Amino acid sequence: MTTATTPEPAPHDRAGIDRTGIDKTGIDQATALDAADPLAGLGELFTLPADVIYLDGNSLGALPGAVPDRIAATVTGEWGDGLIRSWNDADWINAPRRVGAKIAPLVGAAPDNVIAADSTTVNLFKVLSAALARRPQRRKIITETRNFPTDNYIAEGVIRQTGCGHQLVHAGSVEAIRDLLDDDVAVLMLTHVNYRDGSVHDMAGLTRAAHDAGALVIWDLAHSAGVMPLNLAGCDVDFAIGCGYKFLNGGPGAPAFLYVAPRHLGGDGQPLTGWFGHADPFGFEPHYRPAADISQYLCGTPPVLGLVALEAALDLWDGIDIGQVHTKAQQLTGYFIDLVEARCGGHDLALISPRDAACRGAQVAFTHPTGGHAIIAALIADGVIGDFRAPDVLRFGFAPLYTRFVDVWHAVDRLADILDQRRWDRPEFHTRRKVT
Ligand SMILES: *Cc1c(COP(=O)(O)O)cnc(C)c1O
Repeated sequence: MTTATTPEPAPHDRAGIDRTGIDKTGIDQATALDAADPLAGLGELFTLPADVIYLDGNSLGALPGAVPDRIAATVTGEWGDGLIRSWNDADWINAPRRVGAKIAPLVGAAPDNVIAADSTTVNLFKVLSAALARRPQRRKIITETRNFPTDNYIAEGVIRQTGCGHQLVHAGSVEAIRDLLDDDVAVLMLTHVNYRDGSVHDMAGLTRAAHDAGALVIWDLAHSAGVMPLNLAGCDVDFAIGCGYKFLNGGPGAPAFLYVAPRHLGGDGQPLTGWFGHADPFGFEPHYRPAADISQYLCGTPPVLGLVALEAALDLWDGIDIGQVHTKAQQLTGYFIDLVEARCGGHDLALISPRDAACRGAQVAFTHPTGGHAIIAALIADGVIGDFRAPDVLRFGFAPLYTRFVDVWHAVDRLADILDQRRWDRPEFHTRRKVT
C-alpha cells in the first residue's frame, strides 16, 4: 500500500520551472499544523499516488487501502466459490441495511432508519414521491435555484409523473426560502452543503420553519456526510439522501444512501415498488405489499460489489471523532483561503465560499472571469487535482481524513506559480473534456 505522501518540492517541477528561489519559509506553519493534527495518521489508510495532491475528495473520495483486498475476497471467495449460496452465507442479502447502519452514526440517525441503495438521484425520486404522497392537499415543492441540478431535474420529473399540478418553486436566498413557506408547501427540498460554494444551511432552523408551515423536509447530504456532525433525528428531519462516493470514499458510482424518519416508515411509501421493497421478497406473491421498515426503499437486487467497497470504506470511520474531522475541515479550508489571498492576489480570483468557517463545508471555491477551466487544467498537469464547475468556478475539496496542511501549501504554491507565469493560458489547457 502506498501512502498519502507528497514529494519534497523539487528544484525543478514538471513544468520545468526553476523553483530554487521560491520562499519556502511559509511551509513551516503547514508542517506545524500537521504535527498538531490528531487525525494526521489516517492518511496512511488511503492509497494516493505520490505525485498527486488530491483536492477533489468532494467529487470522488480517495481509495481506502482496505478496499482492493475486500473486493478481491468477495469476487473470488464469495462469488467464485460461494456462488448463489453467498446471498445467505456471506449475508449479501442484508448488505444494504448493514451498510446503512454503518452510515447512520455519521448522519445522526438510528441504524434502522438508513439504507444504502441506488444513486443519490434515484433516492431523491423515491423520497420526494413518498413525501408528496404524505401531503396530498399541497401543491408546492420549494428548492433553491443553486441546488445541485440533478435534484431540481428530479423534482421536475416527479411533478410530471404525478400529474397533480405540483409546482417547483426556486428560492434565490435563505430569506426567500423562509418567505415561501406557506400552507400550500408540501416539501422543502435542500442540499445541506452547496456543491458549488460549500456554504452550509441551518438544518435545524429550516427544518423547524418547514414543519411550522406544515411541510416536510428532504435534505441532500452529498457534501456533508463524512465532513461534519449531523443530527437528522435530533433535527426531526423527515427524509434525507446522500452520496457514497464523495467523503464516504465508496468508489466511483458507489451506492448512495437514504434516511426515512421512523414516523414515515410503514404504509405506502415510495413508488418504485420492486420486489426488494416487498414485505416478503422471496414469498413471490402476485401483488406488491410494502415492507414495513426501511427495506421498502429498496427496489431491485442490490449491487453487492459496490456495497462491499463502500462497507470497507466505512469501516475506517470506526473510532473517528467526527467533531475533529469537522474542525480539521474548517482549518484546512481556512488555511487555503488565507494562502490563496496572500499569494495569488491581483489575478482576478474571487472567493465565493463563506469566509466564516462555521458556514462552510470542506470545500472552497473561487471564480475567475475567463480562466477557470484552464487554471484547473494547468493545476492538474502540475499534479494538483481540483475541479471546475461551469461557468467560472474553481473548486477545491479538503477531505480531512487524508489531506495534510503541507498539501494545501504545495497546492497554493503551484497555483501562484501558474498564475504568476500565466502558464494556464496555453492552448492545451483550453480544451474541455467531457468530465470537468
Ligand atoms: C454529487 C451530488 C449528487 C450526485 O447524484 P448521483 O445520483 O450520484 O449522480 C446529488 N446531489 C448533490 C447535491 C450532489 O452534490
